Amino acid sequence: MRYSEMHLPTGREVPSDAEVVSNQLMIRAGMIRKLTSGIYSYLPLGYRVIRKVEQIIREEMNRAGAQEVHLPMVQPAELWQESGRWTYYGKELLRFRDRNDRDYCLGPTHEEVITDLVRHDIKTYRQLPRNLYQIQTKFRDEVRPRFGVMRCREFGMKDAYSFDADEAGAEKSYDKMFAAYNAIFSRCGLTYRPVEADSGSIGGSFSHEFMVLAESGEDAIAFCDTCSYAANLEKAEIARPEKTAPKASDRPALENVETPDVRTIEEVSAFLNVSAKQIVKTLIFNADGKACAVLIRGDHEVNEIKVKNYLGAAELELADDDMIFKATGAPRGFAGPVGVKVRVIADYSILPLADMVTGANRENYHLKNVNLGRDFTVESFADLRVVRPGDACPRCGGEIKFARGIEVGHVFKLGAKYSKAMKAVYLDRDGKEKTMIMGCYGIGVGRTVAACIEQNFDQNGIIWPMPLAPYAAIVTPVNINEPEVMKAAEEIYAGLLAAEVEVILDDRDERAGVKFKDADLIGIPLRIVVGPKNLAQGKVELKIRKTGESRLYAKSDIVGEVRAIIAAELKQAG
Ligand code: ATP
Ligand code: MG
Repeated sequence: MRYSEMHLPTGREVPSDAEVVSNQLMIRAGMIRKLTSGIYSYLPLGYRVIRKVEQIIREEMNRAGAQEVHLPMVQPAELWQESGRWTYYGKELLRFRDRNDRDYCLGPTHEEVITDLVRHDIKTYRQLPRNLYQIQTKFRDEVRPRFGVMRCREFGMKDAYSFDADEAGAEKSYDKMFAAYNAIFSRCGLTYRPVEADSGSIGGSFSHEFMVLAESGEDAIAFCDTCSYAANLEKAEIARPEKTAPKASDRPALENVETPDVRTIEEVSAFLNVSAKQIVKTLIFNADGKACAVLIRGDHEVNEIKVKNYLGAAELELADDDMIFKATGAPRGFAGPVGVKVRVIADYSILPLADMVTGANRENYHLKNVNLGRDFTVESFADLRVVRPGDACPRCGGEIKFARGIEVGHVFKLGAKYSKAMKAVYLDRDGKEKTMIMGCYGIGVGRTVAACIEQNFDQNGIIWPMPLAPYAAIVTPVNINEPEVMKAAEEIYAGLLAAEVEVILDDRDERAGVKFKDADLIGIPLRIVVGPKNLAQGKVELKIRKTGESRLYAKSDIVGEVRAIIAAELKQAG
């Protein structure tokens, strides 16, 4: 493409509302333009990168046996009422009415539509498994659209849905998609990590988020510095400690202490002059209407998702004052395990403790020298807390560290959630009716592009990895008014086009400096500079955007050299 004909409005200005580098650079490089809050247009350069990501996704999805479909974006309310999400989904779901007063929504995701399609078409086990995917526009009315196309309202997503006859089949489908996702993000040239995410009631390791590692990422990840274990903070497991408490019968006697209006861990710690590590926090939860006490060491935080999963509760929240009073006989701030009238579960962090400080279940009192087994018992110990850096890896004992990431993809075993609600059934070998087992698999296309920039830029602009580069090369004649220079540039450009290299010829009548700045800003990996001095010796300069290194090549060799570099870089990405 000739630069002079390209619709490529680059700019130097950083838009004031662009908080992250990728958003700033995508706007400055003329890739996107904001239409209104959370809604963007892709300009030609941006759209080329989108198409690259989509192409990689298509190839890997097809290779994994998935088939592409294209589902409607406008979806009738009835389907969402059937699945139960019409009321549950909240304000992210943009609802509207047609002229006949029928309710619709814009698809934020497509479980309902695909399940409806499949239940209609699939009748017997012989038609299973199936994996159908699409690359299509989604609309989610995000509370706070931000970071440009990274968290916007209208965005392109690849979403795939698998349907299997049974759990074992669904797990196989999941593994296939997990492998396909690794292939996709590797081929995009990204540094990423699949991290275990909460899979709710399904249990097991059947939800992974694919995180591109970047400082600006919204998500925190816990990962092991020794093995490949990585999980998001909700899910990150903590191993049961080996150390246990000393024998309770040898410990000092239980002691009641008056603690007037002293309630929080900080207050108790200051008032009694004990470390938070010695204090036990007793939280009363309301789990589906029933009270349950959760014990945890004072300096730790309870992970409510772990508690919810452990209890198998549909709804979990902290108990209100009334429930706390019924459970403990005291107002909020004085709960403890000794004599509490509800079920008690404890985090592993309690196991090694002796002579604990706890609430006394009596207003303005705490207990000292509380010991497990002697003064109270618990129903069970479990992993119920939030992970911290420095914790031991649950797999190998290595050290847990934290990093930040951008979630670009998500693979999830849905089980029978939608197929049951929407009656997606088939007849098995014995003619018995069975419910299909589903999985869903998403990739944010625009977010992947933005995440790639977050990982690949410098002060001059974007540095595209070869697989996602909108163009692999740019031929820059330093002065278009010198016939020899322009002739050589045209020749090289034609040679590259003939070799099927995606290439720009910067034929603008601009100073070389301006052209170099634009080429750097839009991040083209290879720049071929054609200038009179080198040309007099039959040479041109090849500059590598990523490393900044430049080398001279014989004009006749440059096409072959550029092709070789492109091939090598694409091969390296896999
Ligand atoms: P998040 O937690 O970031 O809101 P999500 O869990 O809602 O993501 P999914 O429903 O799993 O996301 O959607 C699949 C993929 O779609 C995500 O991994 C992400 O790449 C992309 N995505 C989700 N929401 C947005 C958005 N508002 N803007 C751009 N991409 C998005
Ligand atoms: Mg979301």
